[in-house]
Amino acid sequence: MLQGKTAVVTGGTRGIGFAIAKKLAGDGANVAVVATRGGEAAERAIAELAALGVTAKLYLCDIRNAEAVDAAAAEILQDFGGVDVLVNNAGITRDNILPGLSAADIDDVIDVDLKGAIFVTKAFVRSMMRKRSGSIINISSVVGLMGNRGQANYAAAKAGLIGFTKTIAKEYGGRGIRCNAVAPGYIATEMTAALPEEAREALVKSLPLGRLGNPEDVADTVLFLAGDASGYITGEVIKVDGGMYV
Ligand code: NAP
Repeated sequence: MLQGKTAVVTGGTRGIGFAIAKKLAGDGANVAVVATRGGEAAERAIAELAALGVTAKLYLCDIRNAEAVDAAAAEILQDFGGVDVLVNNAGITRDNILPGLSAADIDDVIDVDLKGAIFVTKAFVRSMMRKRSGSIINISSVVGLMGNRGQANYAAAKAGLIGFTKTIAKEYGGRGIRCNAVAPGYIATEMTAALPEEAREALVKSLPLGRLGNPEDVADTVLFLAGDASGYITGEVIKVDGGMYV
């Protein structure tokens, strides 16, 4: 149980991140959610988390900005008194074949999906070191393992996140901090809603488990990695992909 523990979830206002925040809160964790946009939808998400009987709070912060990340982390540590679980989930895509990718498309994806996770981890790791415990979970992608046409920027960022995960596992294992990655396959969220129906059907047919994933499939694995049930697992990458990459 994560009763009384604190979890930080970046990009926890919707999609996979919200499912993760709900799963952790359902297990008793207080949750600090980081996103760039507030507004009604984000407030509704936070209210839904609080309704599970935990403390839930939204912190508006663009994780591309290291100074903004440090300021948000300081506020979170002050509000919650420490962090036990960090889920680096925030991510974006800007898909195109290589000649079509602008410098901004490449920068944006690497800045959010890779550098953002590094900034956020750096901002919290000292506090975890002081506690001599913590679980960091990075949401990579199966694309970071297998590559994907039209996603050179995204695949590079997600593969980078795996190298980062293994490094943090080695650097901080001795301080009681574990770091693992989850590599989802095709999960039905706003990020993937744009896929044309035909392509979706072909994809589903190609999957051994014969269905797209849902955010809860990913959240279940994150819950496992967050708690003591995975206490001897670090530096690992767990695919949640319905067999997409076997
Ligand atoms: P989503 O529905 O588009 O949600 C993305 C979340 O990230 C939002 O809460 C968004 O909040 C936040 N975010 C984006 N840019 C940010 C920034 N600069 N600073 C802080 N927060 C930011 O995405 P999703 O499909 O749930 O994906 C979540 C993670 O899973 C991503 O890392 C993605 O790469 C990974 N993943 C997804 C799939 C899939 O099939 N969906 C597959 C493999 C991996 P704001 O809009 O308020 O900033």
